[in-house]
Amino acid sequence: MFPAAFDYRSPAALEDVLDSLAAYGDEAKVLAGGMSLIPMMKLRFASPEVLVDLGRVPGLDAVQETPDGLRIGALVRHAELEASELLRQRYPVMAAAAPLIADPLVRNRGTLVGSLAHADPAGDWGSVMLALNAEVVARSTAGQRVIPVREFFTGPFSTVLQPTEVAVEVRVPRPSSRSGGTYLKLERKVGDFATVGVAAHLELDNERIGRAGLALTAVGGHNVVAAEAEEVLAGAEPGPEVFAEAAEAAARAADPPSDVRGSADYKRQVVRTYVRRGLARSLELAQAA
Ligand SMILES: Cc1cc2nc3c(=O)[nH]c(=O)nc-3n(C[C@H](O)[C@H](O)[C@H](O)COP(=O)(O)OP(=O)(O)OC[C@H]3O[C@@H](n4cnc5c(N)ncnc54)[C@H](O)[C@@H]3O)c2cc1C
Repeated sequence: MFPAAFDYRSPAALEDVLDSLAAYGDEAKVLAGGMSLIPMMKLRFASPEVLVDLGRVPGLDAVQETPDGLRIGALVRHAELEASELLRQRYPVMAAAAPLIADPLVRNRGTLVGSLAHADPAGDWGSVMLALNAEVVARSTAGQRVIPVREFFTGPFSTVLQPTEVAVEVRVPRPSSRSGGTYLKLERKVGDFATVGVAAHLELDNERIGRAGLALTAVGGHNVVAAEAEEVLAGAEPGPEVFAEAAEAAARAADPPSDVRGSADYKRQVVRTYVRRGLARSLELAQAA
């Protein structure tokens, strides 16, 4: 299938990208890796008049660690994150998720930031970023704003980003030194979207749980924070009992559709099991840190 005709812009400066978006508004779309946008255009689910490609804009392809945490530019590909030793050492929930996204072809082109902007409820990075309390930095000709990921998703394929804004980077706060996390994904076959995904992150504070981050993939209109479960965990002594209680609370936060990947009841049961396993693994990593 072929997309509808469109104009293509490939500015070499961010300011020119922002000017194009300001000029065309709703009629323009930002192009990053194209792994979601191009299929949508071929299927005619999206027919932008103008594509504004970020590919030539300098400075968007870096992963940087600062004293505050990680900064991931809009052109950082899934594959680069998959290969990152820094993620394996300090951001294990990201290191666990990266190799589970799609297949090597998609991981070589697709971007984390594009994945958040696309806001597929079955997207894996959304849950990981929610569990880690990340922020999206958005730029437009009007300036810059920093959006907590917990306020970013508004529904299936929709976010608070305006058509005139580019998400230039994601910021992930630096976890405490005694923290651990993981991402568990049930998929029908390698490379498939999640039937269910669970992102878990635990920070220990004197052998009790300090902060807990827990978010769910493919069980709602967008990636879901299991807020009640996080509250159950915060301040508790970590172990199977509180993990089981959190798993029940997380299952209540899930509102999955019954579809070809399984019934709603089945998916809720997977949430329970994966939350318990994810928390146990996170604790292991935090205690070993
Ligand atoms: C076969 C296949 C399997 C897949 N499997 C998975 C999977 O298992 N898990 C998963 O999470 N994802 C999966 N994906 C999606 C993949 O991860 C995409 O790479 C990702 O969703 C979008 O990133 P992108 O850089 O390609 O964005 P694009 O396709 O370029 O853009 C997607 C949308 O986001 C907007 N956008 C992109 N970047 C920005 C920005 N910086 N600022 C503002 N708006 C922006 C675009 O305008 C567009 O609306 C799969 C895709 C395919 C084709």
